[in-house]
Amino acid sequence: MGVFEGRKVLILGGSRGIGAAIVRRFSSDGAKVKFTYAGSKDAAENLADETGSSAIFTDSSDRDAVITTVRDNSPLDVLIVNAGIGVFGDALEQDPDVIDRLFRINIHAPYHASVEAARQMPEGGRIIIIGSVNGDRMPVPGMASYALSKSALQGLARGLSRDFGPRGITVNVVQPGPIDTDANPENGPMKDLMHSFMAIKRHGRPEEVAGMVAWLAGPEAGFVTGAMHTIDGAFGA
Ligand code: NDP
Repeated sequence: MGVFEGRKVLILGGSRGIGAAIVRRFSSDGAKVKFTYAGSKDAAENLADETGSSAIFTDSSDRDAVITTVRDNSPLDVLIVNAGIGVFGDALEQDPDVIDRLFRINIHAPYHASVEAARQMPEGGRIIIIGSVNGDRMPVPGMASYALSKSALQGLARGLSRDFGPRGITVNVVQPGPIDTDANPENGPMKDLMHSFMAIKRHGRPEEVAGMVAWLAGPEAGFVTGAMHTIDGAFGA
């Protein structure tokens, strides 16, 4: 029997990178896993076949679609919101529509998904959002919208932990530092700069983040809520 045997787990944004590692972890621990994707249909279908999970098309920039997907798959034992994007460049030159889409994916979707999941979530349920160490520290220019969006998740966790705590539902944010994914490959041009900020001079692995998420969702973490959990090789230290 796995730790999450029979538990219903929904991961928003599970087709690639950290999300895919979370799908694999919960599937191998026995959960009934569903996950969403938007742009990566083939990767999503292959991952579903590999793990025995189910892939659902839901664009996280569409608030009503996110709410509908959460509602249709409730009651959930665990909701994980991983989908997130970065838009990098000169703030004075950026298209405000592109920035607002980032806010819809990175802020609005986690909030509305969390609230919708909590409507039917049983006692002991878990809500886990993937933030970033950039919610605490932004050491380079050109990423203010991303940093803002990840800082906003800290308020989400603090506030919703108060709303749902009386029902034994925990709300937490996992804050990775550089993790080796398509969005931030270890062999990318920013590698040396990023590693210069860190005590452990390598990118983290998606599986390491999935391990922290699994602990937060598991039976030992029922007293952990309203908190940020940084996994960053001391990027933010
Ligand atoms: P990737 O770009 O490798 O993967 C992003 C995942 O999010 C994909 O599965 C993608 O699905 C999904 N996604 C993106 N936009 C949407 C959307 N509109 N609707 C539904 N799903 C969407 O990113 P990472 O794995 O690196 O990042 C995952 C999370 O971790 C993000 O929230 C990111 O901010 C955070 N993070 C990452 C760090 C890193 O260094 N990698 C560091 C700190 C935080 P699809 O392709 O199907 O659209």
